[in-house]
Amino acid sequence: APAPIETDAVVIGAGPVGLFQVFQLGLLEIKAHVIDALPYAGGQCIELYPDKPIYDIPAVPATTGRELVASLMRQAAPFEPVFHLGEEVASLARQADGRFLLGTSRGKTFLSKTVFIAAGVGAFQPRRLRVDGIATLEGRDLFYHGSPAEDLTGRDVVVVGGDEAALQCALDLASRGLGSVTLLHRRDVLQAGAAALAEMQALCEAGQMAFRVGQIIGFDTRVEAGESRLSAVHVSDVDAQLHVLPADRLLVFQGLSPRLGPVADWGLAMARKQLEVDTERFATSEPGIFAVGDINTYPGKKKLIVCGFHECVLAAFGAVAIVFPERRTLLQYTTTSPRLHQLLGVA
Ligand code: FAD
Repeated sequence: APAPIETDAVVIGAGPVGLFQVFQLGLLEIKAHVIDALPYAGGQCIELYPDKPIYDIPAVPATTGRELVASLMRQAAPFEPVFHLGEEVASLARQADGRFLLGTSRGKTFLSKTVFIAAGVGAFQPRRLRVDGIATLEGRDLFYHGSPAEDLTGRDVVVVGGDEAALQCALDLASRGLGSVTLLHRRDVLQAGAAALAEMQALCEAGQMAFRVGQIIGFDTRVEAGESRLSAVHVSDVDAQLHVLPADRLLVFQGLSPRLGPVADWGLAMARKQLEVDTERFATSEPGIFAVGDINTYPGKKKLIVCGFHECVLAAFGAVAIVFPERRTLLQYTTTSPRLHQLLGVA
């Protein structure tokens, strides 16, 4: 296995609060690596309301989830955070030398003096099919939120979902000479723009794709090159009639949902699925591990971005004593401090 990445701080979660944590750490000269299960930064702001206006960010009368995240990324950029996106932090344990060893779902490891858990409501994960045994096909014949890189010529592909992403995937495949392309959704209403719907209708009429209403309740496999591969899916329609659709590949777009997951397994004090922290440093029950944003709880906690931002400031100061035990850190103003100007690259 490759050597662990050694760092002063790991931030778990690239939501708005994790991003501002990077900035606050940077002002105190603490470099951070940031890990998020999603393939992009922004947490709930990007996943749940990218284009909705937010009106309660201090001194910003109106912005959107997307704009806020873009601003936070720009603000943190001078500190050159290293992002590890599309991987979940699965394990976290203290080592004999006092540092923390973190491991991700992709097998990356980190050795860090401090950890900032900004995990919000949990790691965003694709909503999976609830069909017995189907998980064994994942990554080979079953894909969530993406298509396999292989050539699909001649293959029968079933795309599951009713949103823009599902429809676009089916439309893209329909023009590529596959055996068959079927879009399957549990309702007969798709959440997609008029142009995409018209294109689907035209392709269905031309016999290049099909649209069906129903839910997958089972599947068949066949042996191919010694391996068990998907061959068909069993679909129950609105009248509970069973249909067997030929299927070599299954591409599923059922949205994402947050899963608290491993955070609950690290032995940290919790109350109602949140990490208990003090309000002086936002430290968890484990010295060196801080928790900020929606994931933490303390008397009076409000799950708002502005509250998370304040928590980041005090957590960063709390970390200085661990990262630079010999240093006495005084508060400096970004307006007037030559050192901060140098760090921000505005000197
Ligand atoms: P999140 O935004 O939840 O980000 C956490 C990130 O951590 C996620 O990306 C997740 O994938 C990642 N993560 C979790 N666990 C792991 C792990 N083990 N490994 C890797 N990654 C992990 N707040 C306001 O202040 N004003 C508003 O107007 C407002 N409007 C809202 C509207 C809606 C519809 C919703 C749902 C929320 C709204 N909020 C608003 C709340 C606000 O979005 C949250 O308070 C904020 O997103 C919390 O930020 P966070 O960084 O703590 O967590």
